[in-house]
Amino acid sequence: MARYNGAVCRFCRREGVKLFLKGSRCLSAKCAIDRRAYPPGEHGQNRAKASEYGLQLREKQKVKRIYGILERQFRKTFKLAARKKGNTGQSLLASLEMRLDSVVYHIGWGASRSEARMLVSHGHILVNGKKLNIPSYSCKINDVISISSNLQSSERILGNFRDAELRGVVSSWLDIDKNNFKATVKDIPQRDAINILIAENLVVELYSR
Ligand code: SF4
Repeated sequence: MARYNGAVCRFCRREGVKLFLKGSRCLSAKCAIDRRAYPPGEHGQNRAKASEYGLQLREKQKVKRIYGILERQFRKTFKLAARKKGNTGQSLLASLEMRLDSVVYHIGWGASRSEARMLVSHGHILVNGKKLNIPSYSCKINDVISISSNLQSSERILGNFRDAELRGVVSSWLDIDKNNFKATVKDIPQRDAINILIAENLVVELYSR
């Protein structure tokens, strides 16, 4: 499975917003965008005004970077969302939120989506009692997500969970059983429950060209 392994703070600086890719560091004084609020690179501080196409492209890049997925998989997710009834932009975001790595992030076991993805791909996450190591698995309503027993006493996981509660990462469409390290998917997330600053209509316009 291909994925980007380089520095991620440059993505926030490129997009001009915090994408929250590094857990608690994003809320600390070490956040790169707070210290250098201009795009990276030699011409970062002298960029021309973006065209309509440029704005659409940037919005798509933002979504891909927030969810940590590459172009081919993103396009595939978009195509599936476009086939569904209703608003394509909302269906796209809901499909991305229902990915197993994203659900694990919202439960609070991973400090960031990339840490949540690592928990999944290293085989620490169970879906309906069975180990599932596919981060892109699309969770269904009533799926029960749990974490392997050997991580239930991990200081890292417990700390991530406490931080997630404080940061408001935990979502209303999940029913979390904190004491038993389980969560049930109650619903498909609606737009108002997806707490990311994205103009998804621009992504739809880009792919409708
Ligand atoms: Fe973005 Fe977080 Fe890095 Fe700040 S610390 S630039 S929010 S990834």
